[in-house]
Amino acid sequence: MSSRFVAGMEIGDALRVAEALNHQGMLVTLDSLGESVSSEVEAQRAADIYHELLDWIDARKIRANISVKLTQMGLEISPELAESIAQGLAEHAQAKGNFVRIDMEDSSLTQVTLDIVRRLHARPELRDTIGIVIQSYLYRSQSDIELLITDGIRVRLCKGAYKEPAEVAFPGKPDVDKNYIRLSEILLKSPVYHGLATHDEAMIAAAKSYAREHGIDPGHFEFQMLYGVRRDLQRSLVREGYNVRIYVPFGTDWYPYFMRRLAERPANVLFLARNFFRS
Ligand SMILES: Cc1cc2nc3c(=O)[nH]c(=O)nc-3n(C[C@H](O)[C@H](O)[C@H](O)COP(=O)(O)OP(=O)(O)OC[C@H]3O[C@@H](n4cnc5c(N)ncnc54)[C@H](O)[C@@H]3O)c2cc1C
Repeated sequence: MSSRFVAGMEIGDALRVAEALNHQGMLVTLDSLGESVSSEVEAQRAADIYHELLDWIDARKIRANISVKLTQMGLEISPELAESIAQGLAEHAQAKGNFVRIDMEDSSLTQVTLDIVRRLHARPELRDTIGIVIQSYLYRSQSDIELLITDGIRVRLCKGAYKEPAEVAFPGKPDVDKNYIRLSEILLKSPVYHGLATHDEAMIAAAKSYAREHGIDPGHFEFQMLYGVRRDLQRSLVREGYNVRIYVPFGTDWYPYFMRRLAERPANVLFLARNFFRS
């Protein structure tokens, strides 16, 4: 059932899906699934997969970058370990003319993730090779975004996928949405190329009209969506001439990712079950 949201178990599956999406006019970001490793060996093994991906993307001329979780690179063992692995990936990406996006995890890791990305981006050789994700459900996000823009760091804006307490995050969807629109306007009018990650048609419509009203070229930003979610919307944005990047996860460690997708939209459980019994 997970194949609706996960490209497959092997690197080859992910590359094939990425090529097919490129063929449909979409860009890709590849995510080798996994989070919270408990040993340095595991972290290094996870990084090796990304190094292999960077080589394959280059060799097959796929229009894709990589999305990486710092807990998979050993953040909870030691921030220094995660930073040095992320640095190795960014250096490899830089050598291949590619880009590393550091995903954002739960709010206990926001500050350390920002610190690592800002430090790596400040190295002259890694400028524009590493970017970050900001979540509109967090109260702190506007000031984080303002700082990131000052540094010239590329941001992916999403609503946020983790269960957070009301002390740090808006508990209600209307406030998360209002903040998403406010933050996307700040990103759109900045000189940096950013990504707006959402399947919410209201968020997308707001970004489109803001860009139109302020003379912002559609080539100045991209919409991002998850593999298997709202394919109709993905295709229609491409037809309208927008840049669209699809987040393609793959690997054997698919369970937590899959469960987050089901939790976001309980109707998915029914949808998947119906298709499962039909096939
Ligand atoms: C490219 C990308 C990268 C992301 N990276 C991160 C990250 O690093 N950190 C993080 O915390 N979160 C990340 N997320 C997840 C994000 O935070 C949200 O949890 C997720 O995108 C759902 O929010 P939404 O903006 O689509 O709006 P919602 O208000 O949740 O949904 C709007 C509409 O979108 C559709 N939809 C949304 N989710 C699903 C689904 N699972 N299945 C089917 N339809 C759905 C439904 O039609 C729904 O009504 C990422 C999302 C994307 C698209």
